[in-house]
Amino acid sequence: MRFLFFLGAVLMSSSAAQAAPKWTLVIHGGAGVIERERLTHEQDKEIRKALDQALEAGSRVLGQGGSSLDAVEAAVKVLEDDPNFNAGRGAVFTYEGRNELDAAIMDGRTRAAGAVARATRTRNPVSLARAVMEKSPHVFLSAEGADQFSIEQGLPQVDPSWFSTPERKRQLDEMKAKKVGWYDVDLKYGTVGAVAVDGNGHVAAATSTGGLTGKRWGRIGDSPVIGAGTYADDRACAISATGAGEYFIRLGVAHEICARVRLKGETPKQAADAVLAELGTLGGTGGVIVTGPGGNADWSFNTPGMYRAKATSDGVKKIAIYGDEG
Ligand code: ASP
Repeated sequence: MRFLFFLGAVLMSSSAAQAAPKWTLVIHGGAGVIERERLTHEQDKEIRKALDQALEAGSRVLGQGGSSLDAVEAAVKVLEDDPNFNAGRGAVFTYEGRNELDAAIMDGRTRAAGAVARATRTRNPVSLARAVMEKSPHVFLSAEGADQFSIEQGLPQVDPSWFSTPERKRQLDEMKAKKVGWYDVDLKYGTVGAVAVDGNGHVAAATSTGGLTGKRWGRIGDSPVIGAGTYADDRACAISATGAGEYFIRLGVAHEICARVRLKGETPKQAADAVLAELGTLGGTGGVIVTGPGGNADWSFNTPGMYRAKATSDGVKKIAIYGDEG
């Protein structure tokens, strides 16, 4: 009897070891002129804590055998709710003083994708993008239509004032008063994103943003544009970008990186570095996070810093802000 009990315990522990999913998660909270002298000690600490919480949310999903799709959504939701980042709560203002939110999500297993632009009332735009992917026949919804679809899907709604913070309002006022460019008021992009590979080797990507301070005329950036700021393909990699959206759209950055991996046999890091270098020659700045199905996760950016973090099932955990942190 005792022997049988022992045998059972051994079998159970070995099958648990077999079932332990191998996963990787990478997240970002924007790139830009992020240097030590520009952040206070408190800001530095707060950002790292927020990245850690998002990493934890996504890691929990993956550690329990959940999908990469669920993990990237969970991680991005945490960053959307955090006013430190330009997504969801804390999004930048349009020229007219509104918050118009863009988001996308993509499943590398099927290359199903969903995206929204200029949403104004959904608390977590990334979840609205996911609803577009799963509950509509479309890939990309915008403005009033996106808001209407969100209500019909029963997603949590908030008053538009939920997204607004005094600091973002101040940045808009400064931009208008000094007549400076959208980049000059904050010197960084605060878009958030996540890429992951789960225990079944499937990759997924999600990105969420308020866009650029003072954006006008219904401007939409790269974040929700599938192939520009967001892409996932199990045959190659998953990408989420942040930076000067117009350049990322022109180069089709996320798809271009995946295409290089798939067709040229480059590693995700090599492909990301090559495409970011090309972006730089055109005058574009920003960064990407990337992972292949094998878990070879990395980042690449041509700005002084990037809010970024990585966790794996092997216990790797890295949270970084400045360029010299590796
Ligand atoms: N890429 C975003 C956009 O152009 C901005 C950002 O990364 O913060 O809308």
